Amino acid sequence: MKKALYPGSFDPITYGHLDLIRRGAQTFDHLVVAVARNTGKESMFTPEERVEIIESLTRELANIEVAQFDGMTVDFARQHGCGVILRGLRTMADFEYESQLAFINRTLAPDVETVLLMSSQEYTFVSSKWIREAVIFGSDVSQFVPKSVAEQLRERAGK
Ligand code: ADP
Repeated sequence: MKKALYPGSFDPITYGHLDLIRRGAQTFDHLVVAVARNTGKESMFTPEERVEIIESLTRELANIEVAQFDGMTVDFARQHGCGVILRGLRTMADFEYESQLAFINRTLAPDVETVLLMSSQEYTFVSSKWIREAVIFGSDVSQFVPKSVAEQLRERAGK
């Protein structure tokens, strides 16, 4: 059984992430979506909230599990029997960051392979960081995140 781990901040989860989750679930037998607790970034949602949100949005996918983690991604992958770390690629900037991560992870854990999926064209410019900023300035982000997430973001931003 091919198990993959999709780690990220998911703060908030976007249609880009959900697209990757759906495609990852088709590519692998089992996909563990792992919410990183220790990102060092100021967050919009707590890790517990992010897990709950992702669970509610992926209910129709039978081979998905959502968890949260601290520490090194490769350690968490091994603990969960995941031989693959799944990540997404949008732009050349992602490529630089993701290739560095992949090289580090391979050095730490040669038995864990990184698989990078190209983002779908319509989500190439969708990022959690941009969405957090847009919400603070009162922009409508409902094209980029599910309705329930857009509503919660609006409440958080006090708009
Ligand atoms: P991190 O803080 O670990 O980069 P993110 O939640 O921002 O966490 O992203 C997790 C992964 O999902 C990364 O590999 C990122 O490149 C990918 N990703 C983010 N947004 C998109 C998108 N719109 N399309 C495809 N992949 C994406």
